[in-house]
Amino acid sequence: MLAERVKKIKPSPTLAIDSKAKAMKASGIDVISFGVGEPDFDTPENIKEAAAKAMREGFTKYTAVGGIDPLKDAIVEKLKKDNGLSYKREEIIVSCGAKHSLYNIAQALYGPGDEVIIPSPYWVSYPDQVLLNDATPVIVKTFEADSFMLKPEALEAAITNKTKALILNSPSNPTGMIYDRKTLEAIAGLAEKHGFFVVSDEIYEKLVYDGKEHISIASIGSGAMARCIVVNGLSKSHAMTGWRIGYAAGPADIIKAMTNIQSQSTSNPTSISQKAALEALTGPQEFVSTIRAEFDKRRRYLVQELNTIEGITCGMPAGAFYAFPNTKRLYGRKFGDRVIAGSTDLALYLLEEAKVALVHGAAFGDDDYLRLSYATSMEDITRGLARIREALGNLRP
Ligand SMILES: *Cc1c(COP(=O)(O)O)cnc(C)c1O
Repeated sequence: MLAERVKKIKPSPTLAIDSKAKAMKASGIDVISFGVGEPDFDTPENIKEAAAKAMREGFTKYTAVGGIDPLKDAIVEKLKKDNGLSYKREEIIVSCGAKHSLYNIAQALYGPGDEVIIPSPYWVSYPDQVLLNDATPVIVKTFEADSFMLKPEALEAAITNKTKALILNSPSNPTGMIYDRKTLEAIAGLAEKHGFFVVSDEIYEKLVYDGKEHISIASIGSGAMARCIVVNGLSKSHAMTGWRIGYAAGPADIIKAMTNIQSQSTSNPTSISQKAALEALTGPQEFVSTIRAEFDKRRRYLVQELNTIEGITCGMPAGAFYAFPNTKRLYGRKFGDRVIAGSTDLALYLLEEAKVALVHGAAFGDDDYLRLSYATSMEDITRGLARIREALGNLRP
């Protein structure tokens, strides 16, 4: 009955864990969640007010498919100011979230016979979006010893004459890694040499720590910019996950194709949300530094504590809001008859026995790790860590 493509994909595993944890909570169980990938802060008042004003003024009708001009212009300004990128209005599309922009890209660029290179650990939707468009994801493993950065040599080894695109995510979900300029230059050079596109998901750009710098690969040079589609959004930087506003910037012909696709699928992103996004981009930005400072505090505490738990080691993530501890040494241990064979068993064990929700590394393509979001209160981080420590202490060789 169902189309063939449906059989190739699975529901987003991060959302799946979250719904299981929510169901346990709803039945009265005190579950502490490190599972969610969204800020625990409320959307700033000035942004909500802009939306309320839009409603009051009757800004509640269809808009231009790819977003209203003032919002596109604000995005052009943002890309210039923050990323040193000069785009024109016709090189911008506003979509229903960054995920939707990524999906439009997949529809516009990937097709049967195309290969799309995805470094692992990867964000869960990348491979499935490739599969939904009948192309082949080519997973290239990265290593903690290289800070999870894709090595140009490893990329080069994966390139074939079918390579259509590479999907980069810096700062990374789930590892928190940030690409350095030298690596981005080498990757951009390979994209130019072999003629593939680079889809650069920069949704966590505002959440970088220790004075580190986010660099957009499109800013490496004009050759790089011509091969890049930059994806960003307001969900993570302005705590606007529910508003569904993301955007992409790239060559005009690709953006035009994406806009046509959008015109035949969702039409414009919500008119009210677009006004809110305009305020988010052009209004006061203190909120961003406030949440960054709070995330930074939690990051240092969580990682330091994780490293005191026997069987776990955790590197210090440079960006985003996730810790990605290595839990390989715990595999093979037992709780009664229950054997923890890998990250999925471990995540389930922690959910059922410790009432702590987090995501198994296997969901991101690397079974040696777990992902803990620290977009949750310091109090819950402290309580959750105590539960994890106790539950892991109960495992036997
Ligand atoms: C959250 C997230 C997105 C999607 O963000 P939306 O704008 O809410 O669709 C995209 N990429 C990564 C890596 C994310 O973590």
